[in-house]
Amino acid sequence: MSISTNNTQSTSSESTPTRDQGRVLLVTDEPTPPGYNSTLERAGFAVVGVAGGAAALVAQRRTRPHIIVVDVHLKGISTNELARMLVKAQDGVPFVLVGEADATAAQRSAALQAGAFDYFQVPQEIALLVGRISQVVALKQTMNRLRAEAHLDFLTGLANRRRFRTALTQEVERWRRYGVPCALILIDIDNLKQVNDTHGHPAGDAVIRHVANVLTKLSRDNDTAARMGGEEFALLLAGATDNKAIIVAERVREAVAVEPVDAVGAVTVSLGVAACPAHATTERTIYAVTDAALYRAKHDGRNRVIVAEAVDMPQAATG
Ligand code: GH3
Ligand code: MG
Ligand code: MG
Repeated sequence: MSISTNNTQSTSSESTPTRDQGRVLLVTDEPTPPGYNSTLERAGFAVVGVAGGAAALVAQRRTRPHIIVVDVHLKGISTNELARMLVKAQDGVPFVLVGEADATAAQRSAALQAGAFDYFQVPQEIALLVGRISQVVALKQTMNRLRAEAHLDFLTGLANRRRFRTALTQEVERWRRYGVPCALILIDIDNLKQVNDTHGHPAGDAVIRHVANVLTKLSRDNDTAARMGGEEFALLLAGATDNKAIIVAERVREAVAVEPVDAVGAVTVSLGVAACPAHATTERTIYAVTDAALYRAKHDGRNRVIVAEAVDMPQAATG
């Protein structure tokens, strides 16, 4: 079993893949990297690893390639078996097969049936291999981008409502299983309609981005800062108790108010806070009590933090 990351090339542009560069993983049991390695690099791809057949899946998880080139002569694992594993693998990385045998119709057909994007005879068909890799890498990069964007809010780059829902489910589940608390802050910009009416919609957008920046700055890695839609935001604090959440909410309130927005001036937000298990122990109830607290913050005069009232009794964690 062998995995080696590619360090055979000496120029720095080749040793560190750039952001847009296609990443190729080679799966072969040849003791030295196959000759087409350098051809791929000359074509602009980063060969991120060379792994033996048995180590292919581990290498795939480690190097996150856009495409895998699999040599059909592998030791210890049949090509079909490896193909099945690659097709089933969580992120479904596309792969092509290569070998010394002629690329007959039967050979290519078998490759397609196994789930590969094609079979190429190497080194004779190296140009075709490079062409197909270019095509598949571009497709995979587009898929990755769309997947990432599906979870992001377009205006602010924060998590969107969908991603927030997933995160809230996970955090409440973590409390249920392991007794790890979490807390939720809901935030609504005060009088944004008036900002739009007075200064125009782009100024309103700048206010929304200002609040988003504050949330990004004040959240830690495991927290989720989300734009729920319009001028409403959520900050989910992983592992935080109600006391911690109140401190964070107050910091958010101050940070928003203290820095004026260009062409608009000072703006404020109202915030509702609740924690699991202090106030609620299901996703639905923690959201509802936080929203009710936010409603009171508006009602009581805006630019303030209001803590929820408890609705359900905490149950002991079962883990
Ligand atoms: P309140 O303090 O009660 O929250 O007042 P408000 O004006 O912020 O709230 P209201 O619910 O009355 O109106 C929400 C406003 O937010 C009106 C809507 O045009 C504005 N808004 C929602 N989404 C966007 C957006 O993406 N960009 C801009 N510029 N404005 C938005
Ligand atoms: Mg609102
Ligand atoms: Mg508002």
